[in-house]
Amino acid sequence: MPDDLFNSFMNGPDDKGRFGDYGGRFVSETLMPLILSLEAEYEKAKTDDSFWAEMHDLWTHYVGRPSPLYFAERLTDHLGGAKVYMKRDELNHTGAHKINNVLGQIILARRMGKSRIIAETGAGQHGVATATVCAKFGLQCVVYMGAHDVERQAPNVFRMRLLGAEVIPVTSGRGTLKDAMNDALRDWVTNVRDTFYCIGTVAGPHPYPAMVRDFQSIIGKEVREQMQAAEGRLPDTLIAAIGGGSNAMGLFHPFLDDKTVNIIGVEAGGKGVNEKMEHCASLTGGRPGVLHGNRTYLLQDDDGQILEGFSISAGLDYPGIGPEHAWLHDIGRAQYVSITDVEALEAFQLCCALEGIIPALEPSHALAHVMKIAPTLPADHLLVMNMCGRGDKDIFTVAKHLGFDMKI
Ligand SMILES: *Cc1c(COP(=O)(O)O)cnc(C)c1O
Repeated sequence: MPDDLFNSFMNGPDDKGRFGDYGGRFVSETLMPLILSLEAEYEKAKTDDSFWAEMHDLWTHYVGRPSPLYFAERLTDHLGGAKVYMKRDELNHTGAHKINNVLGQIILARRMGKSRIIAETGAGQHGVATATVCAKFGLQCVVYMGAHDVERQAPNVFRMRLLGAEVIPVTSGRGTLKDAMNDALRDWVTNVRDTFYCIGTVAGPHPYPAMVRDFQSIIGKEVREQMQAAEGRLPDTLIAAIGGGSNAMGLFHPFLDDKTVNIIGVEAGGKGVNEKMEHCASLTGGRPGVLHGNRTYLLQDDDGQILEGFSISAGLDYPGIGPEHAWLHDIGRAQYVSITDVEALEAFQLCCALEGIIPALEPSHALAHVMKIAPTLPADHLLVMNMCGRGDKDIFTVAKHLGFDMKI
């Protein structure tokens, strides 16, 4: 590395961090110098072989990359159409794709001489990944988490504490992910000298959306090589679930220039994309506005107040979406659909029963869309879905919905 990824004409953003009308850098003057020094450091790292050598060493020996590309034979037979492959990123250390990105940002933080890492987390997966890598490098770690989420996600809070992180419950606003991100940004401005802000998805001011995408792109780069080895050609369709959009961007980005590859992002449809906003489908059910330093599609009311989304999956309920997705949506390079809680739960159970894989509820949304379209496609159609997380964290939620009594 670095490789052809960075020479792609779809490389965006422009020098102001804009993807078409989206992205950019809507931050206060106090934050600007921090953002600029981060951008300068990342620009240096991007073309520095020693940076990528360190990433690859850790991806290989600490995370367990490359993750397999697995042909889901029984699911394929059951659906009776396209050949379904799963990119097994749930096998990564800490159980999801989040650590791909966290490693990149923490190596960068170490290069910048920062000793204190802060992060926001919703369901807790990004917080756990950040606490993990901080423990590995002996860095101080502070995680902002909405007070409501602290209650809902107790096992992940305990994990972070075991790993040595300080978890700060955020009570402002509705006490969820959006508010945690606001408090993390405030902390960053106050503790400029020693602190690095590690963002968990393709959100935030430039350069975060592009940088997080670049770190997650290892997913799509591996899929290119693995599909070439398995089938001797590129896949026909890529499908991934979208919260903020980082696992999806990581799978999609290395294929943006390949016009034969269909790209589909799956948003959380909750109880249905309706007037009551009981969903988290920012592209399907929101409109453009500014949040957390960038312009993108947001769930908002008529007055521009940000609304809390709703989804069975805690990892998908961010009220915005990465600005690059907003752009790909508008120019028509990618298609965005939504899947309801009920559909995701069905896909979750089918995956357990047919493939012996307990998926997280987030990728269950992607899988539910695979179930819809695979039967309509020919047998030589190659479909890849990103299995971006494992379901251990979700078994209590699923048990409740299926009416199982978990008490022993
Ligand atoms: C955090 C998380 C997501 C949502 O984040 P993206 O940035 O959209 O990838 C999806 N799946 C899993 C398993 C997660 O942990």
